Amino acid sequence: MKDIFEDLVIRKGLIGGGNQLQLFKNIRFTMYPARAFSFLLQKLYEDNDLKYIRKLGKKMGRVSSENFKKEIAKMKRLLKKEYQTLPALIELSGFGKIHSFKENKKEIILQIKEHPVITPSKEIYGKKSIACSFYSQIYAEYIKTFRDLNNVQISHNKCLCNGDKLCEWRFKWE
Ligand SMILES: [Zn+2]
Repeated sequence: MKDIFEDLVIRKGLIGGGNQLQLFKNIRFTMYPARAFSFLLQKLYEDNDLKYIRKLGKKMGRVSSENFKKEIAKMKRLLKKEYQTLPALIELSGFGKIHSFKENKKEIILQIKEHPVITPSKEIYGKKSIACSFYSQIYAEYIKTFRDLNNVQISHNKCLCNGDKLCEWRFKWE
């Protein structure tokens, strides 16, 4: 995939000013360091449990994907057609650079090799990293929102944190 951010900068869909980035002229981007975010996730897990992390991911994915869907519908002219796809929108949301995205009628297989939060989380916490549990829910919510699905089954079989070369998720639906 080409760089969606580069294209948006050229089209003025992404502008800088007042110490902040703005997407589509009205969505402000907060820039919380990704590495700090991996600390935060792990800390939230230690203070709570994995169920809490999943709930948080689900909520964040839902709110963000629904908001995004609405804004993109209004701002389509700032976004090239080739970027109006689910993997491009996930990248645009800041939830990771996608290595491969395969979709058929009832399934999406998503691979990520290098992730701003999962990669540092793996370096710090190794197999104990829970970052993928959080992102599994984020991606599932994006898929549900943009494919109008009520439910998707998530499996995360390959994982950077378990020593694999990449993270691979399989999202299935009926
Ligand atoms: Zn993983």
